[in-house]
Amino acid sequence: MAQVADVIVVGAGNAALCAAIAARETGASVLVLEKADEGERGGNTFFTGGGYRFPYNGLDDIRRLIPDLSDEEVDRIDVGSYPAPKFKEDLVRVTEGRADEAMVDHLIENAYPTVQWMNQVAGQRWVLMYGRQAYEVDGKLRFWGGMIVEGVGGGEGISESLFAQLPKHDIDVRYGTKGTGLLTDNTGRVTGVRVKDREGYHDLEAGAVVLAAGGFEANTEMRTRYLGAGWEVAKVRGTRHNTGDMIKAALDIGAQSYGHWSGAHAVAWDMMAPPTGNRRIGDLYQKHSYPLGLIVNVHGERFVDEGADLRNYTYAKYGREILKQPHAVAYQLFDQQTVHRLRDEYRIKEATKAEADSIPELASNLGIDVGGLVRTIEAYNAACQDGHYDPSKLDGLGTVGIEPPKSNWALPFNKPPYVGYAVTCGITFTFGGLRIDAKSAQVLDTEDEPIPGLYAAGELVGGLFWHNYPGGTGLMAGSVFGRAAGASAGKATTGA
Ligand SMILES: Cc1cc2nc3c(=O)[nH]c(=O)nc-3n(C[C@H](O)[C@H](O)[C@H](O)COP(=O)(O)OP(=O)(O)OC[C@H]3O[C@@H](n4cnc5c(N)ncnc54)[C@H](O)[C@@H]3O)c2cc1C
Repeated sequence: MAQVADVIVVGAGNAALCAAIAARETGASVLVLEKADEGERGGNTFFTGGGYRFPYNGLDDIRRLIPDLSDEEVDRIDVGSYPAPKFKEDLVRVTEGRADEAMVDHLIENAYPTVQWMNQVAGQRWVLMYGRQAYEVDGKLRFWGGMIVEGVGGGEGISESLFAQLPKHDIDVRYGTKGTGLLTDNTGRVTGVRVKDREGYHDLEAGAVVLAAGGFEANTEMRTRYLGAGWEVAKVRGTRHNTGDMIKAALDIGAQSYGHWSGAHAVAWDMMAPPTGNRRIGDLYQKHSYPLGLIVNVHGERFVDEGADLRNYTYAKYGREILKQPHAVAYQLFDQQTVHRLRDEYRIKEATKAEADSIPELASNLGIDVGGLVRTIEAYNAACQDGHYDPSKLDGLGTVGIEPPKSNWALPFNKPPYVGYAVTCGITFTFGGLRIDAKSAQVLDTEDEPIPGLYAAGELVGGLFWHNYPGGTGLMAGSVFGRAAGASAGKATTGA
């Protein structure tokens, strides 16, 4: 059978399209297979806020990436710095020391060059994340949290600018084409992909295959099997198409499973959101301003330290904590000291929200136990201390004498009208997946040997994220390892 291309890329999210372009740069011909129809293309990448985490040493690095920043704008902002060792420290800290070190090093070393590459090869333009990652402090907009830049147009913008490059590079996409298995020869080399489209099953041969078909978050059975009981009821924040197909296909031919298979990125997500992502709303069902307020369950009890760390380092693990609460529901509460600082997603008309002039009224409007909430707020207010409040850093303004504490930004909750938002657990992506060689992104087998002809990138790769995740690392890792996978697959087929 004739090859359809030198390299087949399975998936059409960020990791896949970076891989496709990088493979093409080596001179290889490339075919992209997308399970979704064209109107639903782009995977979770389409749904993202488009935030990228990369190391930078100060304003000069940001200006190199965003050359149209005016001097006037620069005078109003403080971008600080985010050196590579700090990125590594954050990644190791939030993953409780388990992140694969070779992958971490490769990611951090290649992150900044890769956002520059995306600008060069995909015309991707970058902007500062004014609305989400900066607070006004002492007359300046101070950026915080290591992720301060997003792609123009957010996830949709990134997805569209990558797709727009494909015709320019002579890369075809077959929509409505689901990978269902991998073809191998008698030596164990991967020689293509078995697919299913509207006409039925076909075998497509290629010199090499890159898998970038996302995790298994949209597969109810796999979610429950690997993440545990209760995960059936989690809402899926993004695409309904990431059902673990290519993880299973690779395991079937002897690929090694790797990483935190019972772990996932999961956040506070509007209680009334649909079961899977809505492309018009995108990421706006998320509710990420909780460090400014309080989180309680239906009994009115707090169950996490809302101020344990900057938002970027807690949000991805708090979805799981919400799932553990009665009815998998929680409520984020704010008063007038903080409500003006809430992120854009709190202002959509779809938000499940209530307002009230008193705590009992707020509880009753949201369906929270009234006595429970009154007791919690009284105890919380009594535990608040005097001190300097600064939401752009860990200000140490913590409570004393309550469990769980609120370790930073603990202003008394006493300035009505009060506002509350009802949230549940929204799963973003799963952490477990395939094992790759960190530099070449070639898939390893159960004996740690590279599988000839098989490469992988994006959320179907395991090893980087465990327990938790620093915001903005998913897209960055997808681009870095996607680019590596595409370049390696291309070189393997062209000898470039
Ligand atoms: C609401 C939301 C907001 C987010 N915000 C951010 C953010 O701001 N910054 C950040 O870094 N990360 C963010 N993330 C995480 C981010 O989406 C992922 O890290 C990243 O997009 C994953 O890229 P990927 O290419 O691995 O997967 P995806 O973009 O999900 O692409 C997977 C592709 O594979 C296709 N596919 C699946 N199965 C098959 C099959 N069998 N055959 C063929 N094709 C298949 C899918 O249709 C899709 O095209 C967010 C995620 C969500 C859901």
